[in-house]
Amino acid sequence: MRYLPIHVDTAEQTILIVGGEGAAEAKLRTLVKTDAKLLLIAPEISPEIKRWVEAGRIIWDARDFSESDLDGMRLVYAATEDDPTNSHIANLAGARGLLVNAADQKDACAFITPALVDRSPVIVSIGTEGTSPSLARAVKSEMEQLLPSTLGSLANKINGLRAKVKQSLPDLSIRQTFWADIFDGKDLRSQLRITESELEARVDAKLAAGKAGEKTGEVVLVGAGPGSAELLTIGARQALHAADVIVYDRLVSQDVLDFGRREAEYIYVGKDPHGYSTRQDAINAILNEKAQGGHQVVRLKSGDPLIFGRADEELDALSNAGLRYRIIPGITSAASAAAEIGASLTTRGRNKSVSFITGHDAEGFADHDWKALATRDTRAAIYMGVGASRFIQGRLLLHGADRATPVTVVENASRANQLIVATTLESLADDIKARGIKGPAILLLGYAPREAIAEVTKLGVAI
Ligand code: SAH
Repeated sequence: MRYLPIHVDTAEQTILIVGGEGAAEAKLRTLVKTDAKLLLIAPEISPEIKRWVEAGRIIWDARDFSESDLDGMRLVYAATEDDPTNSHIANLAGARGLLVNAADQKDACAFITPALVDRSPVIVSIGTEGTSPSLARAVKSEMEQLLPSTLGSLANKINGLRAKVKQSLPDLSIRQTFWADIFDGKDLRSQLRITESELEARVDAKLAAGKAGEKTGEVVLVGAGPGSAELLTIGARQALHAADVIVYDRLVSQDVLDFGRREAEYIYVGKDPHGYSTRQDAINAILNEKAQGGHQVVRLKSGDPLIFGRADEELDALSNAGLRYRIIPGITSAASAAAEIGASLTTRGRNKSVSFITGHDAEGFADHDWKALATRDTRAAIYMGVGASRFIQGRLLLHGADRATPVTVVENASRANQLIVATTLESLADDIKARGIKGPAILLLGYAPREAIAEVTKLGVAI
């Protein structure tokens, strides 16, 4: 993000606009809606600008720009119809450290102006850092449809209700959860269209219900999926949005964490491969403490929380403490990896089952029924298998598996840095080493990518 979106307070401010025709008019269309005093310098002005001048909204000085016009200004628009003039003004303003915008000259601008969806006081600003104004317009048009014209007055109404809610719920994080629940995003489109009296009734009912029931927290065990935000369920997004504490694992991606509120407390509990049990105890203790404190807690685990996620231990600890919990499943990395290589995990007439196995367990390399896994029809997704790949390969070959069995390794499935390596059982460990695969990765035993290699490479995926 090169350009930082900020909302500048225009009360008691004078904004200088140089120019009186099309470019200036375009800027003024937004500026006239602000609280700023507008000073316009131009020898001539368009009829539209003239109307604003006549209405007293703009003060017009009918002359050419001179440097002293910048005195006392903070925000300047160089919006004449002449590029060199605009650059000149931008340079002068820039030298004084002023925030200046030069019409149609991004490089001369200290700030650029976003497309706006204006439901004051709710403002959505959309910027593309100058890459595509038409894309910004498309996003704007979508937002225009989503946000009803009554949104601004609804926001003012909420503001009016805040004092009442604050009095009933003095604890900030509980109050944040309260408001998050009012707009829980289940059906945003219709929620934003509630009337002010409906809103007030909802707030009152919720406050009354809160008083009636004892406030205890809840832990929601949420599947974060393999990494891409697109693979997050709507339930997971809602839970993240409502959470005031988010306890997350090492493999949870930033894209997913970004669905949480900024004000939430984020607790990283990534496990290092040593000292598992103490760490797990510590995690259980955090969950208990936060939920007991009345917080809405999200326990975020990569993929699906019920697959190789030690969910039982955490759920047992919660049950033992008499705490409420819910589980929201997620897309497990094996499912994502299979989708990325276009391989059906089961195929009629070929494999009636597919095993999800781990390369590691509490004792080290995990042991399995290798004889059964070495048979021709076996299909398996191997989690935590990178470090154990040579061991797995050795065991399978020892038990008679075909050396040519296809194995596809999908590292960082669904993420921007995804790597797919199609290999065979014979070369598995060597290829993992040669390609520098460190994980997280899934080894898909018995599966090759569906497309021809060339086809997949064309999609930008390394094989
Ligand atoms: N609950 C998770 C698994 C946790 S165990 C799930 O359902 O996916 C951790 C292992 O998951 C890693 O060693 C790796 O094998 C796998 N894994 C997690 N995220 C992955 C990703 N984005 N790509 C490939 N494998 C991943």
